Amino acid sequence: MPPDFLVSMAGGLILAAAFGYWFARSGESGRGLHRRFREYAQRLPRRSEKAVSAYLEQAEEESSEPGAAFELAAYFRSGGDWRRALQIHESLAAREDLDAATRAHAGLEIGDDYRAAGMLDRAEEAYVRTAEYLPLRLNALERQLGVCEQLSDWERAVRIAEQVRREDRSLGSRLRCHYLCELAAQAAGEGELRRARSYWRKAARGANGSARLLVDPAVLDAGDPNRALAHTGSNSLAAVLVLLGLAGRDGISGKELDELIEDQVSDNPALGPAVACALLMAPELLCPASARCLFASLEERLSSFARMYGSGRPEEFTGEALEALVCEFETATGGPPLWRCTICGHQDEAHHWRCSECGAWESARLISVLSPSTSE
Ligand SMILES: [Zn+2]
Repeated sequence: MPPDFLVSMAGGLILAAAFGYWFARSGESGRGLHRRFREYAQRLPRRSEKAVSAYLEQAEEESSEPGAAFELAAYFRSGGDWRRALQIHESLAAREDLDAATRAHAGLEIGDDYRAAGMLDRAEEAYVRTAEYLPLRLNALERQLGVCEQLSDWERAVRIAEQVRREDRSLGSRLRCHYLCELAAQAAGEGELRRARSYWRKAARGANGSARLLVDPAVLDAGDPNRALAHTGSNSLAAVLVLLGLAGRDGISGKELDELIEDQVSDNPALGPAVACALLMAPELLCPASARCLFASLEERLSSFARMYGSGRPEEFTGEALEALVCEFETATGGPPLWRCTICGHQDEAHHWRCSECGAWESARLISVLSPSTSE
């Protein structure tokens, strides 16, 4: 490729980036152009050295547009070249002709570059520094939390979530609740139930209605499954999770389970669909009472399937019959019940409090024809 072409390509890149940045800043109408720039940048040959040095020369000029530099650095980082991205961000953070907001923004990006490089200590330092610039404080704190989550450093995460709470009450409270629940789960896993309970009590203060506070204590510290299920009340998602947690637990025999479900469903008939759904996912929950709930749900939601399969008699319903029914059910409905993240759409057969794809907390909803309504 002739050098002239490379230089003009770099020029075009910078121009497109500058326009993209300007339009993105000027509102909704810029999004399309911004995206087109990205698509354009993706098509460029990676690490095109001459284009890069041509750009860097321009970027070092005091008057150059910082938007283009941010875009180019983002492009490098997305291609795995965090060093080049860091170099650009550091030069931006040091430029005295830029306003404080732009330099602080570069500070955040420096943290992200280090994080991309796996240097978490340095990433944190950059975030802590940026948090001193108040307009970007919340962003910097959220990124610090990202590092804590990556390290499972929940103690520290709780402290930072408390700082987040001062900036954004509802977000900070929600996160703090989950971090305390993580600590409680850890303690419960080590058999230290008293410590776990004290974390749950702490989490309950200031948390508004997280299903996790209904589920975790019931599943991890279940002295009394009746009480645990009764606690879930009208929160059917919590009820499904408590039932899944009880499934296969030592000490709950078939008869006990049958009485438990029978009692709970007669007290609160809305629990029936949750039982049906949980039974589809955990055959260990099979007993006459849960089978009755399953047949009732099938009649209601999938009557043609129920008629075809035949409801049978709940008390004679065996594990083998359940297995066959689950198989037929999955064929008829396109697969097993799944948990789907309401933020990014990621699907998982197992439930996680934190989405493994986008990192959102408590964003999973149950996707199934038999899924109980989510009135919470
Ligand atoms: Zn997600």
